[in-house]
Amino acid sequence: MKKLLLVMAVGMVALCVSAGDAKYYICKYCGTKVVKNATPSNLHCPAHTFHQWYVVAPVGPVPWQCERCGIQVYLKERATPSNTGCPANSFHRWNKQ
Ligand SMILES: [Zn+2]
Ligand SMILES: [Zn+2]
Repeated sequence: MKKLLLVMAVGMVALCVSAGDAKYYICKYCGTKVVKNATPSNLHCPAHTFHQWYVVAPVGPVPWQCERCGIQVYLKERATPSNTGCPANSFHRWNKQ
């Protein structure tokens, strides 16, 4: 019974994610920032043959900026932005504005 509940919970989370909070994606090569609820196309990266997208966090009202690449994003309350895929260095260093 516990297992069934767990499966149901996981299923509901999957549904919520696919129904889609829009998220920020940043390409590690060209620094392009896009807002989407699914991974954007990797074609036509101006800096490299293909974009390499990294998810930052879901979109919201809180401004954050990376002190290394200068990219600014607006994230969900209490979101923790991912530090992987910074175009300026290997890791973003996000500061809440
Ligand atoms: Zn790119
Ligand atoms: Zn950065």
